[in-house]
Amino acid sequence: MFFYLHIPFCRQKCLYCKFALTPKFDELKVRIYIDALKTEIEEFFDQNSEISIETIYFGGGTPSILTGEQISEILEIFRKQRGFSNISEITMESNPEDITSEYIQNLSKLWINRLSLGVQTLNSSSLQMTGRSNSNEAIFRAFDIITKGPIENISIDLIAGLPGTIQGQIVSDLNKIFSHITPKHVSIYMLEDELYPPDWKSHLPSEEIIQSEYLSGSKWLQEKEFRRYELSNFAKSGFESKHNRSYWNHSQYRGFGLAAASFVNGKRSTNSSSFSGYYRGEREEEILTEDSLCIERIMFGLRTSGVFLYELENKDIVERFQKEWLLEIQEEKVFLTSTWIFLIDHIISELI
Ligand code: SF4
Repeated sequence: MFFYLHIPFCRQKCLYCKFALTPKFDELKVRIYIDALKTEIEEFFDQNSEISIETIYFGGGTPSILTGEQISEILEIFRKQRGFSNISEITMESNPEDITSEYIQNLSKLWINRLSLGVQTLNSSSLQMTGRSNSNEAIFRAFDIITKGPIENISIDLIAGLPGTIQGQIVSDLNKIFSHITPKHVSIYMLEDELYPPDWKSHLPSEEIIQSEYLSGSKWLQEKEFRRYELSNFAKSGFESKHNRSYWNHSQYRGFGLAAASFVNGKRSTNSSSFSGYYRGEREEEILTEDSLCIERIMFGLRTSGVFLYELENKDIVERFQKEWLLEIQEEKVFLTSTWIFLIDHIISELI
């Protein structure tokens, strides 16, 4: 099984952020949260002592606000389980400002073997406008520390189309990043329109620029032998995120913490997104029908490694999209053509 741990604290909240977290916290609040998280994990393993542990992912929020001791006490619960011997990937999302040599050494001692760095952009005015706390100075200092090792599996997150973006930003950022560090994985996200606060509208790049930023970043990475294995995710061979793949191929995953989602035995459940609700153990559950699982397989499949033709009932539309060069079929699997990936929402809505 794949495990997600949500750490819902950030020093300040970026204006576009939709995650469950608070920028108002102190040591006591973090302590109370970690104790609740540990209890939730322990209760799970009390009832599932034989379960195999494939990956653990610390996400957030900003998990790198945790101290080495706090990470260790959480991981200790996993380490005590028989199924821990199967683990292949432990990821820590980290803010560049938190990276020190000591921090990296601590992570490595705790068997954390994958670091996901939230860079987002090297455009200082974009960073400022979005309320992000990291500076280019902190980002490059973090790169210099990370390149000394020992964690080699590094992923970088970038966002195409932040306010203040100029044409060519992503490629310029990639060139600068790769002159300091050699990541094995890069994610390029495009923010959804509704996440933008209304007063940003005048600073936003046009849709054409956002799409061209994504496409030029995608081309740049593919020329460097990164493979796009999901619309927003690019990796060197063998460095695809095992954890994230579990979401896209309907593997069983269990999320712990505020607003964390799980998918176990065909049932999707989500913890409360309020601290008080989470501490009371509130969670919502939904049993997924075969129809809704099929819809998800189509959505995930088109974003990743294709959908089996037999999953798609409306063959006329598939044929039409194929003629319009929106979809292609290879060995009984249907794929999005790379020219039309921005039409994915329209294509999916027609297919399901
Ligand atoms: S650092 Fe990430 S999780 Fe925290 S507020 Fe910003 S976007 Fe949200």
